[in-house]
Amino acid sequence: MLFRSSAFLNQIAVRDSQVQAFLQCDRDEALQQAERIDAKRQNGQPLGKLAGLPVAVKNNLCIKGQPTTCASRMLENFVPPYDAHVVARLKEADAVIIGRTNLDEFAMGSSTENSAFQLTRNPHDSERTPGGSSGGSAAAVGGEMTPLALGSDTGGSIRQPAAFCGVVGMKPTYGRVSRYGLVAFASSLDQIGPLAGDVTGAARLLEVIAGHDARDSTCVDIPVPEYTQSLNEPLSGLTIGVAAEHFTDGLDAEVESAVRRALDVYAALGATVKEISLPHSRYAVATYYVVAPCEASSNLARYDGVHYGFRAESFENMIDMYATTRGEGFGDEVKRRLMIGTYALSAGYYDAYYLKALKVRRLIREDFDRAFADVDVIASPVSPTPAFKIGALIDDPLAMYLQDLYTLSANLAGIPGISIPAGLSSDGLPIGLQLLAPAFEEERLLRAARMFERESE
Ligand code: GLN
Repeated sequence: MLFRSSAFLNQIAVRDSQVQAFLQCDRDEALQQAERIDAKRQNGQPLGKLAGLPVAVKNNLCIKGQPTTCASRMLENFVPPYDAHVVARLKEADAVIIGRTNLDEFAMGSSTENSAFQLTRNPHDSERTPGGSSGGSAAAVGGEMTPLALGSDTGGSIRQPAAFCGVVGMKPTYGRVSRYGLVAFASSLDQIGPLAGDVTGAARLLEVIAGHDARDSTCVDIPVPEYTQSLNEPLSGLTIGVAAEHFTDGLDAEVESAVRRALDVYAALGATVKEISLPHSRYAVATYYVVAPCEASSNLARYDGVHYGFRAESFENMIDMYATTRGEGFGDEVKRRLMIGTYALSAGYYDAYYLKALKVRRLIREDFDRAFADVDVIASPVSPTPAFKIGALIDDPLAMYLQDLYTLSANLAGIPGISIPAGLSSDGLPIGLQLLAPAFEEERLLRAARMFERESE
């Protein structure tokens, strides 16, 4: 165990000065965890499912006694007095928490460039972003600095960085994993999930973090299958849905052909590929970018300089204290979201924007219900392009939001989605394949993903 952890810590020492995936990594602390697990083993005590396996944790998940900043100045000095549910599960499973990974501030973004603290680079090409917002977790796995990582996905933040960094990333069903101790962004969309070098790793990590927890009232009390047990059983008679709406104008030709090649692989394995329609998916970006900012504006109201976190040094009066604190503590993208959300929720606009968005959200969900009556999984690209250059989209919020075109609908519908590596572009950049399944069908999703992965081994 000690050996394994030190090998990854050595890789962090070599690579992370360039990649900058980690906001914190305390070598001695990680080695102590590994030593404790070794001692348990030597004493003949039973070991957990992740015994000795390093896991990097996105820095919007609380770990008792460790700074949890959400890559925001606002929480620069916040040290939670408790563990997130998933972190407690990692500890019980004897994982080694190897460090805390970088993210877009409060998980808002698609490139990790919105971090207040550092710029994370794609481990495959240092001029490009690792994606976001779980860019640090994806870069850490893609750079082989950890075998496993946790991320959060509100609109694609696990799947898109996984695709950019050539790793596996999964957003479980809304309600599959407890968000207790995840700093909230958009509560009706947020979900915690695994990133890993392969499907088996993702399945193993999901097995540990999934399951009921009364502290998150949206967390559903149904049994968690042993995902790793069934993983290698191919799905016979698999029907894969392909929607024309996922192959639109902005889609890069190399991404499209990688996805089509993947479909050929499935067909050769006996799967049936069937055309489906998701007619409302063209409204997903507009819908998400109302719903998510509305919820964010409510969730982030707590950062007022009083409860906890940052407070401005000088101000005139109480109102000025709130304004100055929020003005100085939040970065530009977070402010943009808070303004959009506050506007869309304000009296007079609520019906026109927020309520309307909720209605369209329902239609998007019903598209999936209809499609899944005919197919077992849906295949699509993860993002319209491979990893883009650092700086390329940061001044164009709309172009950045369009990165999420293919991932947002799963969050709006609450269904699980996985991103798996599906080859490289001519520039050597990883391309991801997205698979979606009905709610709580993670087992099906993982088995389908594994079928493809085996063919590329
Ligand atoms: N890129 C999306 C956004 O900026 C999704 C972020 C996420 O999933 N946390 O909101």
